[in-house]
Amino acid sequence: MSDHPYTTLTCLACGHQITVPVYCKNRFCPVCAGPRHKRLRKKLQWYCSNAHLLPGQTLKHVVLTVKSGPDLETTVNHLVRSFRKLRQRKWWKSHVSGGAYVIEITRSDAGWHPHIHAVVQSWFMPYKTFKTAWDSVSGAWGVSVCERPGYVIANYLTDYITKLPKDITDSKAMSDILGNRRLFSPFGCWHSLKCPSFKVTFPCPKCSQSLWIPEEILDRQFSRDGPKMKFDHLPHTSART
Ligand SMILES: [Zn+2]
Ligand SMILES: [Zn+2]
Repeated sequence: MSDHPYTTLTCLACGHQITVPVYCKNRFCPVCAGPRHKRLRKKLQWYCSNAHLLPGQTLKHVVLTVKSGPDLETTVNHLVRSFRKLRQRKWWKSHVSGGAYVIEITRSDAGWHPHIHAVVQSWFMPYKTFKTAWDSVSGAWGVSVCERPGYVIANYLTDYITKLPKDITDSKAMSDILGNRRLFSPFGCWHSLKCPSFKVTFPCPKCSQSLWIPEEILDRQFSRDGPKMKFDHLPHTSART
C-alpha cells in the first residue's frame, strides 16, 4: 500500500507534525481500517445500550440472505429492497420497533452472496412466520434469529462490515458497490436516537494536547511569515470600557 494517500497534521500547540493516512474510500483497506473500526464499534455499542426497550422486548441478532447471484450490484439491491419491504409489513411492525443493519458480502462458486446482519429491538419473533414473511418479500428462505447481549451483537456487526474477503481481489468490487451506502443504517425508532459522533482523538506525543490541524487548512489559515491564526487578529475587549 505504498501508493496510499497520506496527509500531514500539525499540532497547534507545539508545531509537531505527524503523517496519517487519508481515507481512500476502499472500505476494506487495512491502512484505514483501525480508527474507523473503533468508531463504528463505539457507535453500534452506543445504539445497543441506549435503545429504549419496551416491556417484553430484547435485542436480537437477525441474519437475512437472498439467493446468490452473478452480479453483485443486482444481488445487493435485491437484498436491501427486500428488507425495506419487510420493514413495511404489518407482521414486522407488530414484532419489531427498531434497530440497525449492516451488509456483509461473501462469494462462492454460486456467485455473490450478500447478507443483512441486523440488531433488532423486538418481542418474540416466531421463526416460521418470520421465514414466511421474508420469503414473500425476497423469494428466499435465509433467516436466522438469535437473542444476544447488545455489546455482543455490536461486535459481530462491526466485524462483518470490516472483515476482509477471502479473495482480496474481491475487495475493490465490494467496496465500489457498498461505497455509496452507509456503513450501518438505523431503522424504526432507532432513527430518533441521537448518537454522538465519537471522534477518535489522539494526543500529541510532544505536548500531549489534541489540537491537530491538517495541512490544507494550515496553508489557508496561516500566513507565510508565521503561524498567525485568523482569530489572533480579533480585537480584544476589556471589561472596564
Ligand atoms: Zn485506505
Ligand atoms: Zn504538540
